[in-house]
This record gives sequence, structure tokens and C-alpha cells, in this order.
Amino acid sequence: MSSSEGRTAAGGPGVRVRPGRDAILLRSRHPWIYRQSVSGTIGDPVEGALVSVMSSGDRILGWGFHSADSMIAVRMVSYGETEPAPGWLGERVRAACALRTRFSFDSDAARLVNAEGDFIPGLIADRYADTIVVSLHMRAMEMRLDEIVSALSEVFPGTRVFVKRDEHHAQVESLQVPTGYAAGSGDGTSVVSESGVRFVVDFAHGQKTGFYLDQRANRSLAAELARGRTMLNLFSYTGAFALRAAAAGATAVVSVESSARAIEASRRNAECNPAIRSETLQWVQADAFAFLRDPGRHDVIVADPPPFARRRTEVEGAVRGYVGLFHQVLKAVAPGGCALLFSCSGAVDRLLFRQIVAEAALRSGRNVRLVRELQADADHPVAAAHAEGEYLKGWVVHAH
Ligand code: SAH
Repeated sequence: MSSSEGRTAAGGPGVRVRPGRDAILLRSRHPWIYRQSVSGTIGDPVEGALVSVMSSGDRILGWGFHSADSMIAVRMVSYGETEPAPGWLGERVRAACALRTRFSFDSDAARLVNAEGDFIPGLIADRYADTIVVSLHMRAMEMRLDEIVSALSEVFPGTRVFVKRDEHHAQVESLQVPTGYAAGSGDGTSVVSESGVRFVVDFAHGQKTGFYLDQRANRSLAAELARGRTMLNLFSYTGAFALRAAAAGATAVVSVESSARAIEASRRNAECNPAIRSETLQWVQADAFAFLRDPGRHDVIVADPPPFARRRTEVEGAVRGYVGLFHQVLKAVAPGGCALLFSCSGAVDRLLFRQIVAEAALRSGRNVRLVRELQADADHPVAAAHAEGEYLKGWVVHAH
């Protein structure tokens, strides 16, 4: 653990923000301070140190973690003069876990810590039954791994903890901790249950921490809509939407996914659920855009593509991509059917996504109604000041 916590402000490392940025930061309480807002450092902070954030007039605005190379120079952990008290990190981890006990997810898998959304920048922790998978997005969190593991072990005694290295962040943030168990041991997989449907989560090799927990509530809604109907599940990953729909009584579900490994995992997941009739499930390894040239007609279509825009500069291309995809999807909806259209691009905001859906509707030539707006499930809270944290957006639409 870092020794930076607990020292006095005087003489400790810090960063100074440019004149004019202070008031904006204080008012917005945004969790990120971009490099261009910083005029200099004080006391040569090491990577991952807890630093004081000083105004141009030498007032302490708050405290945060320093990154030397990232576009985000400081990720705030608190605003105000008082330095976070020793033990603050463990306390926040426990509080984040406690929040999840107030919701019923009908699953033994849940996101326990959602980074900035739980005021713990750089830390994701997902519980998959007997294992908690931790993803560290900055060096500051790696330096405090022992404290994180001991807080999680306190809340879930005996649970294994697996650290999953995120290669994207590993490059930007000079991460050092390799993938592997930090507490206990195992084969890198867990079996979880979501509304009675079982899934093998391969967190060691799967995408992100292994499973898309954020879509849980939307899968429940899709399953309801698909009862007694047909479904097309585009960008299906390990088949979670498909299996939930089939378990709820969908008559036929076609899933389209480009990754052979994910298709293989989908078949394995189907085998874990002998109550689901396997003849209702069809797994197609293909490019979803190519598939949409001759898609047939389906009562319910789910389109949950990977992010098209990670940065602001990519937004324009992403808008074209989404409109192109969704208008094809809408054309393939059977008369009176529904589509669930998603974007997980952080740089595409809610309002823009609403415009994308409207444009796709117009181009499809169908009469399209917006039925319900969708977002990530309740175990993915977002800090009110952090619009970027609201990455998952969706709409249920109805097409005549
Ligand atoms: N809906 C899924 C998560 C989807 S993640 C769930 O609830 O679990 C997006 C998926 O799209 C990934 O599995 C990725 O491999 C796949 N993918 C990316 N590009 C694709 C393409 N062009 N065609 C089909 N699948 C694609």
C-alpha cells in the first residue's frame, strides 16, 4: 500500500490547476482533471500517488490519484481541503458492496464496485458466485490491491479474488500486476445463475471481466418480449440474451457473433441448461453487418454492438455506423415486432443516441415508436457529476 495517505498537506505532492479551471472544477465536482487543465506539479508526485489538487491561488481544491502519462492527469477521490482519512478506500469498497444488497438482481453475479460510480476511480469488481474479479484501470489501484482484497474478503469471507488485467488500460497507465488469483485459486471460470439460467463465466479469457452484467435487466425485458415469439440476437457474445429469451419461452432464437470462442462458449452455456430445448437455439458465427444483408424477419431483434466511439473525435463516424446498423435492423423486424437498440460508446450521449434512433427509424421507412429507454442495471451506478460514466444507452422500439 502507498504511504501517501495520512500525511499532512504541507509538503506533500500535488498538482496545480490553471487559472480559471479552479472555479469550474469546484462547481462541477467532475471526477477527472485533464492534463490540459494542469499548470504544473508540486513535489514530483510518483505515478499513482494521492496528490492534493491546488488552485492557482494555492488553495486545496481536493485530492486525487496522479497519472503521469494518461490524458487524465488526476482522478479525484474527494473535493474539499480535508485529506481522505486513512482507511477511506476499504470503507468505500464496503459501502459499494452494501449498496448492492439493497437491490434484488435475481442472480449470484453482480458488479460490486463501478469505479467513479462508487467514488473509487480505476476500480471495477464483479462478483461471479464464488469469485470476485477485479479489474484495475490505474497504477494507483494496483498499489492499493492488498487493501482492496482485504475489504472484499471481509464482506465475502472465503471468496476467491481474481485480478483481470485490462490490456487497453495496461498500455495507457503503465500497469504491472499480471492476470491471476490474488486470493484463493481455481481454473479461471465460475458458474453463475441469472433468473435461473446458468452461465459459465470464463473470466480469465473472456471479454472485460467475462460477462456483461450491465445488460441483466435489459435481458429480462427482452426475454419477456420474446415469450412465444422469434428473436434475432445480434452481437450475441456468450449467448446471454438468447438463453434468457429461450428460457422464457421464445420459439426460435438466432444469435450472430463474430468470435468463434464466444460461439463455443454459447454452446457450452446452452448445455448447462438442459431445460432449454436446444432446437430453439441457432448459433451463427458471422459478421452481423453481412448477416443483415439477408436477415429474414424476426419478432424481437437485439442489437448490442461493441463501442463504435471511444473518443470524441470518433463520434461522427460512430453516428453513421449506428444509423446504418439500426436502420437495417428495423427493416428486419416483423410487423408489430420490437427491437432493442444499444450503444455502449461513452462518447455518444443520451440525447445524441435518441437522435440516432430517430434517424434510423426514418431511413427504415417503418412506423417506429419509442417504447422504453434503457440503461445499465442498478449495480452500475453513475456519479451525478460524471456523464461519461453513463456509457450504456438503449431503446426498446416498436415497428409497424
Ligand atoms: N449482448 C452481449 C454482449 C455483446 S458485446 C451480452 O449480453 O452478453 C459485443 C459482441 O459483439 C462481442 O462479443 C464481439 O465479439 C461481437 N462483435 C464485434 N464485432 C462484430 C461483428 N462485426 N459481427 C458480429 N459480432 C461482432
